[in-house]
Amino acid sequence: MAGGSVKIDHARYILTLDGDRRIIRDGSILVEGGRIRQVGKAAEMAATRADRVIDARRLLVTPGFMNGHMHISYAHPVRGIFPDELASPLNHVFNLQAAMTEEEEYHATLLGLVELLKSGTVCFVDPGSTKFPDACLQAYEDSGIRVVTGECVTDREAPFTLPRHATAEAVARTAAFVDKWHGRLDGRVVAWAMPFSPETCSAELLRELKRVADERRTTLTLHHGSGAQARKEYQARHGMRPTEYLESLGVVGPNVLLAHVLGIDEAEIDCIARTRTAVTMCPVTAAKGGRGVPEHGRMPELYAKGVKIALGADSPNNCNHLDMVRVMNMAAIQYKDARQDTRQIPAEAALEMATRLGAEALGLGDALGSIEPGKKADLVLFDTERPEWQALWNPVNNLVYNADGRSVHTVIVDGRVVVDAYRQSFVDEPKLFATVQEIGERLQARTGITFPRSRWPMI
Ligand SMILES: [Zn+2]
Repeated sequence: MAGGSVKIDHARYILTLDGDRRIIRDGSILVEGGRIRQVGKAAEMAATRADRVIDARRLLVTPGFMNGHMHISYAHPVRGIFPDELASPLNHVFNLQAAMTEEEEYHATLLGLVELLKSGTVCFVDPGSTKFPDACLQAYEDSGIRVVTGECVTDREAPFTLPRHATAEAVARTAAFVDKWHGRLDGRVVAWAMPFSPETCSAELLRELKRVADERRTTLTLHHGSGAQARKEYQARHGMRPTEYLESLGVVGPNVLLAHVLGIDEAEIDCIARTRTAVTMCPVTAAKGGRGVPEHGRMPELYAKGVKIALGADSPNNCNHLDMVRVMNMAAIQYKDARQDTRQIPAEAALEMATRLGAEALGLGDALGSIEPGKKADLVLFDTERPEWQALWNPVNNLVYNADGRSVHTVIVDGRVVVDAYRQSFVDEPKLFATVQEIGERLQARTGITFPRSRWPMI
């Protein structure tokens, strides 16, 4: 946490995402001790002093973005290798991940953090894919980002290379992980239980991991989908739908975050809403992966029922970018097309999911997700003096439909300026980019997982 106070002065707009969703024109924000102390009209705060004053006349301020599902650790060195016609890269993905060394994972993570912060993400959930959290802690510390981490566990045969343990060991490892990591770096590290999916974990493991999460007052996340085929299989094996199966085990509730949730039917949506279970959806992954959002995507129904929805970028090899502004854009346009109805998922709803609602989905809504006195000072300042921001009448529309993360000018996390006028200072970028490229070469050579570099002749 930064010691000094910061005043963001005369912001062109502040999208507060507060209870009334106020948008303040010519607004100021005072940050002290890592928290937002005061928000209001610049004229009313003219007498307020701070150690540092940021002239924000050309800037638009939003809460920091939450990325609710983001496998950070492996993909950057091999980003873009998979050709479009590959039906699913998942088998390769997990084999590549299994082959990463500690040093390789550290550098891949560092690059992920640079990309996340420079496009305005202040907090992300890594669903347990980091193999060497001790090494990555240094990257989290240096970058200043918030991370929700855990150890991915399974105790059943899986179609991919996933870490598998005996049930009791998987439970013990999860408990030890949460005890070791939860609350570190002034609370910027949060640790959860992270079973991979209901299909790769026994009922006993899922129940026990929920108990671990409950006892430690933390959260559990897992991959969850449904669809006609899965419903048939679950019906045959358990006599119920996939989401009802989770409910029968007690693995639902406000401290459970279901990832993806494609293919759920009306009864499953009711179950999620009734139990106040949270979800995280990855709209770009769904679109790029040809997941059939018109048939399987139910974001509008979940939103209408008041379900806490976060957005995720998933991974640098299926969403490919980590830019939450582009993810918001996809969330807002995907359902208009899928339903042939422009009323679906307004720009404001997409922005809520990336901020306030997303923070609530992650169980962090008391401290994060909006610009209000008392909340943690996690802020993104967009540069509106760029062509894509013109003309500026409706700032939410411009943000979600015109802009992308490249107009992120300054980012503050926990009161500390971590991106300052487009620059971060925790890593030498050209050197890091070269290192990650080399890691990609080595990783492909070592695993034999490689593809033609282009459909076109490369000479
Ligand atoms: Zn995932």
